[in-house]
Amino acid sequence: MNLILLGPPGAGKGTQAKNLEERRGLKQLSTGEMLRAAVAAGSEIGRKAKAIMDRGELVSDDIVVSIIADRLNQPDVAKGFILDGFPRNTAQAEALDRMLRSKNLKIDAVIEMKVNDEALIERITGRYTCAKCGKGYHDRFERPKQEGTCDVCGSHEFIRRPDDNEATVRDRLEVYNRQTAPLIDYYGRKGNLRTIDGMADIPDVRRQIEEVLDRA
Ligand code: ADP
Ligand code: ADP
Ligand code: ZN
Repeated sequence: MNLILLGPPGAGKGTQAKNLEERRGLKQLSTGEMLRAAVAAGSEIGRKAKAIMDRGELVSDDIVVSIIADRLNQPDVAKGFILDGFPRNTAQAEALDRMLRSKNLKIDAVIEMKVNDEALIERITGRYTCAKCGKGYHDRFERPKQEGTCDVCGSHEFIRRPDDNEATVRDRLEVYNRQTAPLIDYYGRKGNLRTIDGMADIPDVRRQIEEVLDRA
């Protein structure tokens, strides 16, 4: 099964994608994570992307489309994948359609996660992740069971993203509304869009997604 998680920054896409990886054996393909890995590695793509990401703008379609094309050629996506953060505009969605056609693949469901702006800002400004395994946490909504220790890998090191500050978040929301939100109509017309209430707590959102998948 192949899915797209569609929603603004902070909607909970990464959190739910990681859940689905564990429970359904699907592979999370997060262009944001792949770009951050490129920045950390200091590769040419990383050098091109860093300043743009820090401003909360979109990196060029060529870069993200070729990243996804490479990933879809690898064998680990055969059991199914979850696109998290891609596509982010109509040109990327059309490029994805062409890629899927050429590989004889299809998207089984596009899940739109709806969350209001104030909640998004609170979620993003409280977000942090384990530096070692990438498990996501939140200052208020998802704390480690033992303070300062990652539940998954036991690490004591955590990181916050440079773009997770309130000013940049407001710019990212604006970019989302202008460039990404039109995809709700794009997939609505194709008939496989499902909208869920992303304001619910993490387990409840997970249940809503499971329900969509059981029917897809
Ligand atoms: P996205 O990948 O859509 O940008 P994340 O999954 O990283 O969003 O979630 C943003 C932050 O909000 C994280 O710190 C996460 O722990 C927290 N979070 C995710 N889902 C929920 C939820 N349903 N309710 C409250 N907090 C949540
Ligand atoms: P979030 O879900 O919190 O918005 P992501 O991790 O998906 O964050 O993306 C972080 C940044 O990486 C974006 O603000 C953008 O600069 C860049 N990025 C990620 N995916 C794409 C994409 N598909 N197209 C263009 N830029 C992207
Ligand atoms: Zn960890």
